[in-house]
Amino acid sequence: MEEDVNLRKKSELSLGGGIKLPRGFAMPFRLSRSTAGPGAGSASAVFAFGRYRVKKGVSYDSGEFELHEGGGRLYLTRGGEPFLDEVTIQPVVFHCPEQAFFNLDQRCMFSCAFCASPRLDKGTVKDLSPEAIVSMVRGAMDGGEVRSVSLTSGVVDGIDQTVERMAAAAAAVRREFPGMPIGVEPYVSRREHLEALREAGASEAKLNAEAARRDIFEKVCPDLDYGGVFEMLEAAVEIFGRGNVTSNVIYGLGESDEDLAEVAERLCAMGVIPTLRALRRNAYNGESLDAAIGSVPPVDTERALRAAGMLKSALERHGLNPRGCRTMCLECGCCDLVPFRDL
Ligand code: SF4
Repeated sequence: MEEDVNLRKKSELSLGGGIKLPRGFAMPFRLSRSTAGPGAGSASAVFAFGRYRVKKGVSYDSGEFELHEGGGRLYLTRGGEPFLDEVTIQPVVFHCPEQAFFNLDQRCMFSCAFCASPRLDKGTVKDLSPEAIVSMVRGAMDGGEVRSVSLTSGVVDGIDQTVERMAAAAAAVRREFPGMPIGVEPYVSRREHLEALREAGASEAKLNAEAARRDIFEKVCPDLDYGGVFEMLEAAVEIFGRGNVTSNVIYGLGESDEDLAEVAERLCAMGVIPTLRALRRNAYNGESLDAAIGSVPPVDTERALRAAGMLKSALERHGLNPRGCRTMCLECGCCDLVPFRDL
């Protein structure tokens, strides 16, 4: 029962606005300034309660939730009402807890409506050469536990070039840290791209279907190929193995629950573990989403709980379990309700 309540709280916290920090509160760990994922563009931190954790934007000025310190603990309120009696703040390695997750380049030649990365301040572009990545991972390992390394990237000069750069980074990490799980989240268009990444040492791959239906995909990712993503997913399962391939499906783009169940079933039947991600609108993607899909009601907690329950059944039917994944979002669990981890 306690767990059901906390699962609902995770959903509410994760779908809701940011967290306002108490005046003068010193964060116990450095803030994450992500260039990818739902929190891209905002300073954020990871809040944990029970077995749940959520990455949230934080600010000293405003927030839907408020953090308080008192009685030797931290707790959250919403609108002045108690929300969570006790939370802890978890350290992030790079971007998320226990993982060094790097965005090789936030710039992108494609224009997916939901993606904040290319719209962020260009001043946040970092030089992430393979050598720089290895040295950052080594530094992080000196300071604490690093369970895995994950790599994502916008597509800057072309798909081939971006895959090559990601493979070079994976190979450098593999050379330096032979036992380290490595996850890659590329946009690929040929089987050889996946083979190159696998050969470089990547152990898990994430190729995003992005939308539950082709017509929605064509509106929100006008430069990408929906059928091609599924072909690449099929190849990825052959190359990386069943259960080592995952795919983001963003919901809240105008699809029905049935559409979502259909795509989850399709992916699971292929041996792919879907990551069902509720659409979050923010300062960077609101305008492009309005232009692509118009005004669509936001995902609420009831829908998020329904989607997570549906996904758990689909995974069970196909003998898949996200707990076997060591990298990227399924290992992190900060932004979605993850079956077998949260429910
Ligand atoms: S769930 Fe994914 S997007 Fe969210 S913080 Fe973790 S790694 Fe980043």
